[in-house]
Amino acid sequence: MATIKLDIVSAERLVFSEDVAEVVAPGVAGQLGILPHHAPLMTMLQPGELLVRKDGEEIVLAISGGFLEVRPDRVIVLADAAERAEEIDIARAEEAMRRARERMQHPAADVDLPRAEAAIRRALARLQVAEKVQRRRRRT
Ligand code: ATP
Repeated sequence: MATIKLDIVSAERLVFSEDVAEVVAPGVAGQLGILPHHAPLMTMLQPGELLVRKDGEEIVLAISGGFLEVRPDRVIVLADAAERAEEIDIARAEEAMRRARERMQHPAADVDLPRAEAAIRRALARLQVAEKVQRRRRRT
């Protein structure tokens, strides 16, 4: 089966680097499916789920926005932050969500609302990805 190299790099580390069969990424204009031999492309990503298909399996990651480039031989994701589902600390994401909601509901004079909104979207992406994989595990 044809594959393409996928590199996911965050500000802090190389999160993922493997040959994969398909990438489905949260593009700013909607979900973006990339198979080997896809035309070259550059796009921004929004916070959400990034799905990788490889050897008949699905690997799910949470992405906090960033940038995706399709080159002839590889797909590169430069993510603000990215975690594999099993790396996600659910309690931390819930706490980040609680803090950001609190800031939005009771804004202090100096509160940065777009920043609080972005924190909610990151936390939501993490919780959705972690819960999806937990649900799957319970079924198997
Ligand atoms: P927090 O307020 O909890 O730090 P955040 O959304 O501000 O959350 P980011 O700035 O997006 O955090 O990420 C900072 C670093 O922490 C990144 O390396 C990211 O992968 C990691 N990280 C953030 N939240 C989680 C989480 N819930 N589980 C695992 N890693 C996380």
